[in-house]
Amino acid sequence: MTIDVNDTQLMLDEKTLSFSVQAGEQTWRFRKDAKPRLECEEGTIYFEDAVVVSHKEFVSGIGKGIQSHYEGFEVNGQKVPYAFDTIVWIEYASGNIFCEWIPLQEEGLNIKAVYWPGEMEFEEAKDSWYTLLNWQQGILLPNTWETEVNKVVFDGFFETAGGYMPWYAQVRDRAGYIAICMTPWNAGWNVDHPENGPYTHVGMRFEPSLGKMDYRRVVRYTFLNDCDYNDMCKVYRAYVKEEGRLRTLAEKAVQNPTIDDLIGCAFVHKGIKTSVQKNSSFYDPENPHKNDNLVTFAQREKEIRELHDLGVKKLYMHLDGWAQPGYDNQHPDYYPICEEAGGEKAMKSLVDTMHELGYMFGIHDQYRDYYLAAKTYDEHYACQLADGTIPGHDRWAGGPQTYLCGTQAPYYVKRNFNYLEEKGIELDGAYLDVFTCNEGDECANPYHRMTRKECYDYRALCFRYLLSKGILPSSEEVSDWCVPSMVMCHYAPYEFMMEKPGTPKKGIPVPLYNLVYHDCLIEPWMMDKVSEEEDYMLYALLNGGAPYIIRDGAYPNTDGSFDGGVKFTLEEQRDRCKIVSDLHEKVAKCELVRHELVDGNYNIQRSVFADGTTVTVDFENQTYVID
Ligand SMILES: [Zn+2]
Repeated sequence: MTIDVNDTQLMLDEKTLSFSVQAGEQTWRFRKDAKPRLECEEGTIYFEDAVVVSHKEFVSGIGKGIQSHYEGFEVNGQKVPYAFDTIVWIEYASGNIFCEWIPLQEEGLNIKAVYWPGEMEFEEAKDSWYTLLNWQQGILLPNTWETEVNKVVFDGFFETAGGYMPWYAQVRDRAGYIAICMTPWNAGWNVDHPENGPYTHVGMRFEPSLGKMDYRRVVRYTFLNDCDYNDMCKVYRAYVKEEGRLRTLAEKAVQNPTIDDLIGCAFVHKGIKTSVQKNSSFYDPENPHKNDNLVTFAQREKEIRELHDLGVKKLYMHLDGWAQPGYDNQHPDYYPICEEAGGEKAMKSLVDTMHELGYMFGIHDQYRDYYLAAKTYDEHYACQLADGTIPGHDRWAGGPQTYLCGTQAPYYVKRNFNYLEEKGIELDGAYLDVFTCNEGDECANPYHRMTRKECYDYRALCFRYLLSKGILPSSEEVSDWCVPSMVMCHYAPYEFMMEKPGTPKKGIPVPLYNLVYHDCLIEPWMMDKVSEEEDYMLYALLNGGAPYIIRDGAYPNTDGSFDGGVKFTLEEQRDRCKIVSDLHEKVAKCELVRHELVDGNYNIQRSVFADGTTVTVDFENQTYVID
């Protein structure tokens, strides 16, 4: 079947069920080998296995395309009535192609994932053929790249560290497409790139919501015939702008003017109390002293004064482990303020001192990990999966935990922040751990049923409450859903920064997220010079971000903290940070207009911000120029 709209043509091969698209001069073919399929508890079932398969032309007021109907499957010799449609259509107004997968009758199959609309053919061994992956800050993966890429963090689930934004794109020479997942809450991407290529295959999958496919899934393809990776990011920026989800820092600062004080800050990450429980998998029985640690509020106050004496003008401190249970313990019942560290009087003194010095202060907090040791813990409020089980683990310091249902999180936020307000602790910011970075939860408990999409809305409510109190919200990384309600993050790193220094990169690091959202969020960057060949300060500059002057990670060798590297004195680190924060002060509210691999050399990269500022970094010689 063939459908024509202006210079776009859509073709369906009824035998293989694969589509191809003629966009102007360019032909894009979905791979015949990546057959549309359902991964089910019953096994792998191909679309073509349906008892009834029919196709017809689809026409509406807004476009036309091909509607296909799939009905009835055979499972272990039994016929089941499972049925769905696909509609692939070209929009008159834009030429965009929409691929819709629509469940009609959900009896008889227990679907784990729908692999559709498939993967494009992308086979040529040329480095001018590349794939864009939203794995953390962004990766440009040339077809010839030497390192194999096939396993993605969080399995490439959108809205996690493995999919900051719900799209991928491929460019061959200067023609390309971007595939935007318009229903990203239960969806992800997968990639297959062997060592040295020669190809990269990338595809999308849709997973159930509370045990059923439940709703229509949509992917939008936009084809560009003269483009590079910048154009793809700008197509996506226009898309979120159309949806009203592009909220800039300038807009947010109207409601929360302290955002302007945060811009230009050096970031300090420190802790008060560590207490790894015996029933935590982090517990070290060989070195019991490693499981407990305490630094008083007074000591932190002294360190802050020292930073001030060193001449650090603007500073934000993120403080871990400030309550009695210790870091990652007993959330969400995180009180009272740590007694042996000096209690509320000492914490208030620290915060008041910071304010006297013109600094800003924020706490680490947590409303997802739900510790069995919490005083008010009640399994009834833990997220329940569709099969009735309650997921949990004992990975972190506080030992056994489940996940607090997101419906409850805003209430706990209000309760806990009211408590701190009553104690006179004036917060400038607050970090709600794992809300970004980790996937949203779903909960099948009928008393507080919640889809994953709703979970993101509840998380945003937590941020919005903080904003209403003048507290700037932060979380672990960044995502697409958090942009309207979050102000800063802990970091938004490149994938390689989470790996041990020297680990081969999974492509060329390019700031895809910042090309879309640089002017919407404040991102602090690691400032480690991890080896003589790699100084993360250069990436901080290239991204127009904020610097970490001190970053004492909560756990050793996780979250991008590794031993080794070049040691700087505090004076040296102060000077390095000043360069980064001075630039941040200039460009924080500016769009990152363009990013370039200078003369095609990925070791020389340039950023161009909306105010005309350019940052050129030479990774080979470890130099930078700010113009
Ligand atoms: Zn619930």
